[in-house]
Amino acid sequence: MVVREVANGVFLIDVFDMGIPNRTAAYLVRDEKCVLIDVGSARSKEHVINGLQEIGLKEDDLHFIVLTHIHIDHAGGVGWLLEDFPHTRVVVHPKGSPHLIDPEGLKASTRKARNSYPFHPCDFLPVAAEKITVGKDGQQLRLGKRTLTLIETPGHAPHCLCIHDDLTSGIFVGDSLGLKIDYVLEGDKYEVALPAMVPPRFEPQKALSATEKLARFDPEILYYSHFGSTRDVRRLMEKYRVAVQRSLEIAENLKNKEVDRETAFAQIYTWILKEILEIPEEKFEKIGGEMKISLELNTLGLLGYIFNK
Ligand SMILES: [Zn+2]
Repeated sequence: MVVREVANGVFLIDVFDMGIPNRTAAYLVRDEKCVLIDVGSARSKEHVINGLQEIGLKEDDLHFIVLTHIHIDHAGGVGWLLEDFPHTRVVVHPKGSPHLIDPEGLKASTRKARNSYPFHPCDFLPVAAEKITVGKDGQQLRLGKRTLTLIETPGHAPHCLCIHDDLTSGIFVGDSLGLKIDYVLEGDKYEVALPAMVPPRFEPQKALSATEKLARFDPEILYYSHFGSTRDVRRLMEKYRVAVQRSLEIAENLKNKEVDRETAFAQIYTWILKEILEIPEEKFEKIGGEMKISLELNTLGLLGYIFNK
């Protein structure tokens, strides 16, 4: 299923990041004015357009695209999508806006952070400055029956925004509460709740503050970019908080011991597998494909925090 209504007027569109289903989502919020939250990478354009058509959205009905942050798997396709939606405005964090207007630096940092992975085109089409609304903390978008409120949540990246929807009492969390994906390994299902501590700018202390800020909204439903909605809010928020807190302790410990990068990589990688994913040791070797990539990115993000300070 590519599109499904997950709450009142909230539609999940699978953007098939890396060509993989159930990995990365965009959300269409339907009201008198409609809002698309995230767009996937350049290669997601067709999936997004098909999804919007399936929902029955017409070109002029899409008032805003709101970006949870400007990482490629969420925002890479925005310039391409605007070719088909010329009247739509893009709402983005003030730290993200200059990079959409002139994406050269963003392309370079994406290549640097994810170069060894073949799945992303590292492509961004510039967005005209006059199409951008800079989204600040507390800013509201009134859509009709519902109002969306922007929440600044730096931590995963400095340019993170979450979006609160008053009608469903839900929050679109982007990557600000990590990832929650169901992963099947040799017939056994694991709940992968990774902290999304990816390069180049993961900052654990800020991620913890962002979690507290989101908890104060007391949401009833979370809309994850990776992947899908859940009403199991309190447990998952706490799981995320503990994972980030623990990652911070591990990072400080490794820093104090002055270990080299390779040793630190191995220790963090194993810690994630054992404690976060709770995958038994005998199955470590069996993990491959995109899950391995996610694990490596999380490890590299924490390494960046340890060694770049
Ligand atoms: Zn991200």
